[in-house]
Amino acid sequence: MLTDYHLHLRPDEPDTPPERYFTVENVERYRTAAEAAGIDELGVSEHIYRFRQALDLWRHPFWQEQAQDDLDAYCEFVRGAGLRLGIECDFVPGAEDRTATLLEARRFDYVVGSVHFVGEAAVDHPGWDVWEGPGDADGVWRRYFDALAECARAGLFDILAHPDLVKVWGRGRPQPERDPRHYYEPAVEAIAESGIAVEISTAGLRKPVGELYPARAFAEMCVEAGAVFALSSDAHLPEQVGFGYEQALELLGELGVGEIAVFEARARRLESLPAGVGENR
Ligand SMILES: [Zn+2]
Ligand SMILES: [Zn+2]
Repeated sequence: MLTDYHLHLRPDEPDTPPERYFTVENVERYRTAAEAAGIDELGVSEHIYRFRQALDLWRHPFWQEQAQDDLDAYCEFVRGAGLRLGIECDFVPGAEDRTATLLEARRFDYVVGSVHFVGEAAVDHPGWDVWEGPGDADGVWRRYFDALAECARAGLFDILAHPDLVKVWGRGRPQPERDPRHYYEPAVEAIAESGIAVEISTAGLRKPVGELYPARAFAEMCVEAGAVFALSSDAHLPEQVGFGYEQALELLGELGVGEIAVFEARARRLESLPAGVGENR
C-alpha cells in the first residue's frame, strides 16, 4: 500500500481562494496523478493557518494575513470528495488546550503536526526568516529540534511533518558545527515516548536542500527507537503527487522498514509497502 496524506490542493501563495481549488475538477487532477504513481490512498491536509478559526490558536501577523477561509467548509468539501480528511496543524506552544478543542470538534482522519516557527520567526519562510535574527546555526538547530520534540510530545498529532525542515535552505544558510545527531536526539526521544508516526516527506527534494525529510541519520535513529513512518509528498500541485517516491521507498527499504502508517478517524494501523521494500529486515 502507498499513501499520500500530506497534500495541499493549492499553492502557498496569495490569491488562491478555496472556490478555485477546492473543486471536484481539481481533486480529479490529484486522483489521476495518484493513480499514475500507484498511490492507493489520498488525503488532504491544508494548513490550519489558512482558516479563520486558527486565530483562536495564534495571532502571529503572518497568520492574521493568511487566515481567511472557513475550516468547516473545507472539512465538508474534502469529505464530500471522498478523500481522507487531514489538516496540517502547527504546534503553537502554550495553545495546546485550544488546539485540542479545535481538532476534536472535527472528524479528521489524521492530523499532521508541524513546526515551521521557532518563536516568532520561521525556518522556511523568507518573510519571517529565523536566519535574520540573532543566534548562530547551532542555536537555531537546537531551538528547532527542541520545538519538534515538544510538538511530538504534545499528544495532539498523528504524524510528525517534515521532521528536519530546519535544513530546507541547504547551503544557502549557515550549517551547525556540531554533528546534527546531537540535535536530533531530544526529538527522537520524544518520538519514541509519544509513538507519533514520523513523516518521510519527499518535499525536501524540491527545495534548495535537495534531499528527503528527514535525513538518513534521523530516520536511522527513529528506526532504532522503534518509530513507525508515514509517507507523503507535501504536494501543492497535482503533478507533485507521489513526487520522488522511488527515493523515499529506497530509503525505507535500506532501513528495513516494510510497513507504513495508514489512518482512518484518527485510528492507526500498519500496512505493508509494495513487495520488495524492506525485505532486508
Ligand atoms: Zn509544512
Ligand atoms: Zn504542507
